[in-house]
Amino acid sequence: MGAQHEAGVATTTHRVVILGAGYAGLSAAIQLASRVDKRSEKVRVTLVNAQERFTERLRLHMTATGQRLAELSIPELLEGTGAHFERGWVTAVDADAKTVRIDDERVLPYDTLVYALGGMADTAAVPGVEDHAYTLNSAQDAEVLADRLSRLGSGTVAVVGSGLTGVESAAEIAERHPELTVVLLGRGEPGAAMNPKARAYLRSALERLGVRVRSGVEVVKVLPGAVELAGGESVAADAVLWTSGTRVSPLAAAAGLTVDERGRVVTDATLRSVSHPEVYAVGDAAAIRQGYGVMHGTCQGGMPTGVHAAVSIVRELQGKRPKPFRFGYYHTPVSLGRNDAVVQFTHPDDSPRRLHLTGRIAVRYKETVTASPWPTWGRMKKMPASGAFWPRGGRFTRVREA
Ligand SMILES: Cc1cc2nc3c(=O)[nH]c(=O)nc-3n(C[C@H](O)[C@H](O)[C@H](O)COP(=O)(O)OP(=O)(O)OC[C@H]3O[C@@H](n4cnc5c(N)ncnc54)[C@H](O)[C@@H]3O)c2cc1C
Repeated sequence: MGAQHEAGVATTTHRVVILGAGYAGLSAAIQLASRVDKRSEKVRVTLVNAQERFTERLRLHMTATGQRLAELSIPELLEGTGAHFERGWVTAVDADAKTVRIDDERVLPYDTLVYALGGMADTAAVPGVEDHAYTLNSAQDAEVLADRLSRLGSGTVAVVGSGLTGVESAAEIAERHPELTVVLLGRGEPGAAMNPKARAYLRSALERLGVRVRSGVEVVKVLPGAVELAGGESVAADAVLWTSGTRVSPLAAAAGLTVDERGRVVTDATLRSVSHPEVYAVGDAAAIRQGYGVMHGTCQGGMPTGVHAAVSIVRELQGKRPKPFRFGYYHTPVSLGRNDAVVQFTHPDDSPRRLHLTGRIAVRYKETVTASPWPTWGRMKKMPASGAFWPRGGRFTRVREA
């Protein structure tokens, strides 16, 4: 329980501070605040985020091509839950003092911390990315790219990274800017994790949109006006979008939390930090092990982690032990511009099933999924238990003891 006395908050109040209002952090905040009694002063939930506007990360490739997205306000999304919103940039976590520093000036004490700061493209991967490449790391970054693309005329855009963010971005840019030449560069083949038919569909859609795919290449440097490949070849590019690799905020490591080689907070089976059990880590910022391996960053898995952390915090406040988290993947929906998409259904370990959707039905499916957080959060406010439905993954998610 809180030992320090904050203005207007009783000393017996349990202070839960959630860092990051992305898909995982908002799920945690809404789930937790909806489960605790708003009138009682026993629990205070504070959600901290850099911007007041919710960043629809799933649609940042649309922002990057000048498409306007809905204005989604985080304080409005929290309305009626009793959770507090604190706008600011988290600059430090002191895991011993149990405080969070915001904008280098405000200090927020916590009893339980939920770490949900997400991830971003790895701009430190090769020289020149920081200085010469664009990213989709934030809405502002995507807007800067949109501005550049709108002024390029008939130039060339190199999208580096043939993962799904790279594929969606290349397709969107090619569709919105037919005057541009779009080159997709990456080590792997686009859609490599899909079944052969879905992969072939994705490949033909990229061809139809005019995207030039170069697989099996490694970009080793980004220069003004070009990228350099391993082997020395140079590919001319008037703009470079970097989507390859991921990294996370250095704050967790700096705070002394146990992190993995990518800086993600290593959690136990219940999503608590293995070094600091009063810290839960969720979403892309966490390294969460399941029976099939460590989860990779997705919204489909991130939202359940936030909900689970909230349920666990409530259990702990009731003197109960938190339960292990289990999650199995079920789909990979990929947009191919606004008029085409491919949806690969998956086994819980993310390996592809035979079933996949393409064309208009896949477009509708993808849009429904992308827009689903709002109805999910709306339902959760009225009926918190409704947020706790996700595939647990059956035999795939039983953690084998080493
Ligand atoms: C173009 C694109 C398309 C994608 N498509 C899909 C898809 O179709 N399906 C899917 O499942 N996943 C998709 N993803 C991945 C998905 O967006 C992420 O897995 C998801 O956003 C992770 O959620 P999160 O809550 O962990 O982090 P985020 O959504 O990144 O939220 C983190 C929040 O923390 C804030 N923050 C970070 N650092 C600080 C700080 N120091 N101080 C204050 N605030 C801070 C950020 O501003 C942000 O609001 C896509 C990603 C991209 C870029």
